Parts: sequence; structure tokens; C-alpha cells
Amino acid sequence: MKKCKGLLLLGLVSLLLFVLAACGQDVGKDSTDDSGRGEGGDKLKIGLSVSDLTLERWQHDRDFFVEKAEELGAEVLVQSADGDEAKQLSQIQNMLSQDIDTLVIIAINSDALSTVVDQAKAEGISVLSYDRLINGADIDAYVSFDNVRVGEMQAEYLTEQVPTGKYFLMGGSPTDNNAKLFREGQLNILQPLVDSGDIEIIGDQWVKNWDANEALKIMENALTANKNDVDAVVASNDSTAGGAIQALEAQGLAGKVAISGQDADLSGVQRIAEGTQTMTIYKPIKEIATKSAEVAVQLAKGEEVKADSTINNGKMDVPFIKLEPIQVNKDNLADTVIKDGFHSLEDVYKNVPESEWPAAG
Ligand code: BGC
Repeated sequence: MKKCKGLLLLGLVSLLLFVLAACGQDVGKDSTDDSGRGEGGDKLKIGLSVSDLTLERWQHDRDFFVEKAEELGAEVLVQSADGDEAKQLSQIQNMLSQDIDTLVIIAINSDALSTVVDQAKAEGISVLSYDRLINGADIDAYVSFDNVRVGEMQAEYLTEQVPTGKYFLMGGSPTDNNAKLFREGQLNILQPLVDSGDIEIIGDQWVKNWDANEALKIMENALTANKNDVDAVVASNDSTAGGAIQALEAQGLAGKVAISGQDADLSGVQRIAEGTQTMTIYKPIKEIATKSAEVAVQLAKGEEVKADSTINNGKMDVPFIKLEPIQVNKDNLADTVIKDGFHSLEDVYKNVPESEWPAAG
């Protein structure tokens, strides 16, 4: 009996030692072995830092991204910096302390994030530049549209509609790398026409934070300075186009002055249906968001990412997954944004008499 008790005690002690040893190993693994992140059953964690969720476009991006990432088994922490550069920096810093595997950034200032990206990389966190390229930093992948092409398409369509006359350029946010690429594309088309004397550029401005109210003020001033003698406005997106159109409306010029946009925001496509905006660029958001979620998960797992091209960000050639934009005007609204289910026919033509709606499908 005594012998039996002794054996039982020995057994219990060995079991205890075994359990302790096993726990010790686990703790050791978690705190020291970073390469095991996301592997061995850990839930992958992605941080998504959004520039500004108050702009319609980014709400779609967020929704599609989160949906896909969750479908792929990842958890997503989303934060919106509401257009505030300092807030974006501190939100990212906070995410870095939350054990994320991949950081996805929609940058407010493309030139102000290299330090925080370095910090992420030093902690073994991969970084994806979403839609806007981050300059001067070590980025694992960049997923975006062909942004120079976006600018070319805007200017191409406007110059087809208004081959001669006075043009005003309403650029995007001066800190957004994309805004510069759109302008580059616009000038690829406009400059030869300026040189030939067909068109004249009467003004050229940038709109802080792509803000519609700022665009409204800029347009008011441009109209005053030019005594309303403006034939076309090259607005780089729909929010700035919206502000400019308000200023045109106040002068009875909406629908008379050609104006571009971008994003196929609901308000933008409604203005196209109503005739106050000439065109927009539809960038299938589901495509960029889904692709980015897939790439973010691949990076989190330490897998290799395939990209067809690269883009230099001043520090390196970043693998660039490049998507194609689509030009939208009143004649192809039904075949593009509506057909794609991005907006419904009823929503787009809400303010237009039903007799003028295009045939559905
Ligand atoms: C995006 C546009 C968007 C703008 C304002 C740009 O970087 O490419 O699609 O309209 O930011 O949010």
C-alpha cells in the first residue's frame, strides 16, 4: 500500500513537471519566435489605417477589405484618421503595439510615414501601401490603379467634349502622391493642346484634404477672377468636383461648364445622370480591396507576393499590383457602375424623370 502511494505521488510529480515544461516552452515560443506569427493556428491580425472615412470612397474600400480578410481567416483592426496627419501617425503607432502581422496604410501624407514604416519593419510587421504610394520607405507591396492613366482619361474625355477653350485645373490634396500622378496624366493630354494654342489653362490649384468646401471656395475665386469665362474644369475627384459644381450652380453655369471627377461616388454619378458633371472615373473598389486583403494575408503568412510591375518610391522599387480604371459618362453609366452593382439604377437616376432612365440591364 505504502509502495503504491509512493508511485502515485511520483506519477503526479512527473505529470506536473511535464505540464510546467510544456507551458514554459509555449511562453518561450510566443515571446521569442516571431517567424511563427500567423502560423501554428494563431489568428492573423491586420491593421488597416484609413486616411479619411468621411469620404464616401473609403467606406466602400473598408467594407470590401474587411469582408475578404475575414473570409480568409484574418482579424482586421480599422482606424480612420479623418484627414489628420498627426492622428494617423499615432493610430499606426498604437496598432504596432497590438500584435498585428501586416499593416495596411492609406496614407494622408505620402512623404511622412517612413519612420513609422521603419518601426513596423523592425518589429517584423509587413507593410502594404494601399492605393497611395508611401515614399522613402521599405514597402512590401503597393496595390493601386494606374493613376497616371486616371489623369489622362479625365483630360481625354474633357478635351473631346471641349476641344478649345479655357481650362481650370482643380488638383487633389498636395500631400497625396496620387494627386501628383493624376496631374501628370492630365498634363500628358493637355500640354500639347496648350502648345498648339487650342486650349488655355487659366488657373491651377490643389485642394487640401480633397475637401469639397475648399474646392467650392477655390472655384468661386476662379470664376470671379475670370469673370465666369471658364469652359472646362479638370477636377481630380468627385468630392472636389462636387464643391466646384456648387460654385458653378450659384452662377447658373452648372451643366454648361464641362467638369471631370473620379471615384463614381453616388453623388458624382447622380450629377452625371442630371447633366451637371461630365464624367467620372470608376475604379472597381471591390477589386482593389479584395486584392489588397489577399496580399495582406499572404504577407502575414510570410508568403511571396506576385506583382506584374514595380514603382520607385525614392528608396526602392516597390512591387506594384496595378489595376485598370474605367471611364464613365452619361452614355455608359448603365453598362459600368450600375451593371457592376456598385450603385443601383434607382439611386443613380433618383433625381431624373423615369421616362429618361436607360433600360435596366
Ligand atoms: C484616391 C482617389 C480619392 C482621393 C480622395 C486618392 O488618393 O486615389 O480615389 O478620390 O484620394 O480620397
